[in-house]
Amino acid sequence: MTIAYPTVSPLKCGYLSPPASKFLADAPDGEKLTMPSMAFLIQHPASKSKIVFDLSIRKDLATHHPGLQAHLKTRIPLSSENDVKSALALGNVDTSDIDYVIITHVHWDHTGTPSDFGSATFIAGHNTGKLLRNEMGPDLYNPFFEADLLPADRTIELPPVPSSKKGEVFDKKHGWYWQSLSPISNAIDMFNDGTVYIVDSPGHIPGHLNALVRVAVDRWIYLAADACHHMRIFKGETDFGSWKDEQCRTITIHKDIPAAYRTLEVMRQLKRDGLNGVPVEVVLAHDGEWEREKADYFFPNHL
Ligand SMILES: [Zn+2]
Repeated sequence: MTIAYPTVSPLKCGYLSPPASKFLADAPDGEKLTMPSMAFLIQHPASKSKIVFDLSIRKDLATHHPGLQAHLKTRIPLSSENDVKSALALGNVDTSDIDYVIITHVHWDHTGTPSDFGSATFIAGHNTGKLLRNEMGPDLYNPFFEADLLPADRTIELPPVPSSKKGEVFDKKHGWYWQSLSPISNAIDMFNDGTVYIVDSPGHIPGHLNALVRVAVDRWIYLAADACHHMRIFKGETDFGSWKDEQCRTITIHKDIPAAYRTLEVMRQLKRDGLNGVPVEVVLAHDGEWEREKADYFFPNHL
């Protein structure tokens, strides 16, 4: 029997231009990085499911908090002309055809327009609800979070990942449970067939998720979202950019710095050794060079 492997299609969405020093330790002051915020369509033929991984930048920026709109002026060149909805339309897929939306984390450049996806089940990491309601304490407070961003009746917030509960099914409908997939500590086999995994990837902000998709007998794609913002960091050429807060603590774009280094190391290991010997391609959400190289593989095509 031949297995119909899932496909992964990058989606042509928006871009933004933050200060490079926010990401790269060796970036000169004043330099900006213009980067895409990529989303992906994962199609799982065996279940006929369509999954969108991240929602990129919202088309109608005017619906954001006024404070965020002011912040976005510091991120130009910025474009929201293309979004997940328009990218899907290029292949005649309507947002109502989407079964699942995986929100890797709730920063504005990844959360798009959830209301476009009227029949999808949203999947978000542990504590996403508390984060959006600003109940996670002062260090994680963000005045621009929208408490009602995700539809309460169609959102599955994943449970925490204590190793003691490994193997215990937390979602009976899907048969989901946390399992390890060396070198990954915690992952969920979405269709219980070893082809699409939701991966716990801590460090950036609480509940940050990645995905691992088997697209061929000899190929995995690892969607890393914001676990790493630049290939130069991934390759070890430079470190996370850092600065000091008012209390003189070292801050990076990653809220839990040790966890971010551990997640990065897992991703490097996957790239170096593969998963059980099968090669893994690691794709970062903001990798402009990768986006240009892979232009021909964007939806309606696939990787
Ligand atoms: Zn981002």
